[in-house]
Amino acid sequence: RSNAEKFEFQAEVSRLMDIIINSLYSNKDIFLRELISNASDALDKIRFLALTDKDVLGEGDTAKLEIQIKLDKAKKILSIRDRGIGMTKEDLIKNLGTIAKSGTSAFVEKMQSSGDLNLIGQFGVGFYSAYLVADYIEVISKHNDDIQHVWESKADGKFAVSEDTWNEPLGRGTEIRLHLRDEAGEYLEESKLKDLVKRYSEFINFPINLWASKEVETEVPAEEDESAEEETETTSTEEEKEEDAEEEDSEKKQKTKKVKETVYEWELLNDVKAIWLRSPKEVTEEEYTKFYHSLAKDFSDEKPMAWSHFNAEGDVEFKAVLYVPPKAAHDQYESYYNTNKANLKLYVRRVFISDEFDELLPKYLSFLKGLVDSDTLPLNVSREMLQQHSSLKTIKKKLIRKALDMIRKLAEEDPDEVHDDDKKDPVDEYLMQYLMDYEDKKFQNVSKEGLQVGKDSKVKEVKEAFKELTKWWKESLASENVDDVKISNRLADTPCVVVTSKFGWSANMERIMQSQTL
Ligand code: ADP
Ligand code: MG
Repeated sequence: RSNAEKFEFQAEVSRLMDIIINSLYSNKDIFLRELISNASDALDKIRFLALTDKDVLGEGDTAKLEIQIKLDKAKKILSIRDRGIGMTKEDLIKNLGTIAKSGTSAFVEKMQSSGDLNLIGQFGVGFYSAYLVADYIEVISKHNDDIQHVWESKADGKFAVSEDTWNEPLGRGTEIRLHLRDEAGEYLEESKLKDLVKRYSEFINFPINLWASKEVETEVPAEEDESAEEETETTSTEEEKEEDAEEEDSEKKQKTKKVKETVYEWELLNDVKAIWLRSPKEVTEEEYTKFYHSLAKDFSDEKPMAWSHFNAEGDVEFKAVLYVPPKAAHDQYESYYNTNKANLKLYVRRVFISDEFDELLPKYLSFLKGLVDSDTLPLNVSREMLQQHSSLKTIKKKLIRKALDMIRKLAEEDPDEVHDDDKKDPVDEYLMQYLMDYEDKKFQNVSKEGLQVGKDSKVKEVKEAFKELTKWWKESLASENVDDVKISNRLADTPCVVVTSKFGWSANMERIMQSQTL
């Protein structure tokens, strides 16, 4: 195309795409849930913006927050379209050409050795899974702030972006056109797509519609030959009999026959009623498990260890579902230190607001996954304002209580499943960093410098007396071995002790971190 601008993929993306396109991985199905999940994210974004500015939604069909799936059997194209936020030219280049998230290269390595792509969505590279089934992809996108563009790539290390002058205008949103590989023909079957959406995208909160075929019988004028055998004129209802009578009356009787015809119409594939709005009594164990899988983007077969679904009433009203995952997330420790990453999704009156609210749970509970939907929080304010809202404190308090109840119950019912601080799942080290005091008494780490036990008036004196020795000691050990050498009053029988600095990691923490390194 004449106006196409060419780009090269970031090396890491190229490597990932190579692995995907050459993958013998059998579960290629996953691409659909990844694309639907992206469409849903994009719809969440525009719906959020619309809270403070209704005009962003546009008019007519453009304002419909939905996902549409269409098949073109002849051209072997599967397309997935949303009316979400869309992408500007810049977005297309940045989002579908580079990987912003860390940990991707570890994932690429792991995938190369294990060949398991199931976790791709958790690593922020789900889009590329489309190359499991397609060898050429076009992404047509229209963002409110830009004209319509087409991104395209054959997964050959390059992609191109052009101003779209030939496709039908989208209004707003994104259409992903997958030119399916020969061996991916099954994804041109409506039944296969229906099955996949039911299985993997059941909890998407926007309607997913399939342009589905339907066989209908229609009446068409019969041919001149009146003896046509197939002719079936059955008159069953009174009305039809009357009509027939009228027809008899008319001078020239028009004979008709029924023929089968294929027509297309949109068929809704999901039930958009949010699980957390239902009564806990009505939701089955299987539904909770499946909801967990979609929430955590964890599509293994494992069941969450425990969950708690409740409805808080009173001054601050909200509904919440909390889960204890079956195992630690791949980025558990990373997200622990990253303040912007919380594992709870916050909704206000069914509208997704953010999954980056670190105000909802204390860090020591950051391994939980879940969702909070509040009717009390205001809808038409910025995320920043919301973050300051006084109701959040109440929500947090109730969430902590419910979370601890859930864990306590789990410990009672299934003690083998809950590890304390033995050598297996070392949570104390993390917990103690944030647990500052207990009943007005401050905690101190005995393995760190500055331990204070009672008052010792002699310290000053001793310090002075050993000044030369500590100086000599410090110099002899050199700075890469120790930071400092100090007089301490903590020791009784031993002459010296090695401790860590006040704000650094303890030796145990270093051990934990080292064992986490991939
Ligand atoms: P993730 O969804 O985890 O961010 P993906 O690889 O699935 O990772 O998608 C990469 C990025 O591409 C998304 O973060 C988003 O910015 C953009 N994107 C993908 N699909 C769409 C879409 N349908 N509408 C708008 N943006 C999209
Ligand atoms: Mg995604």
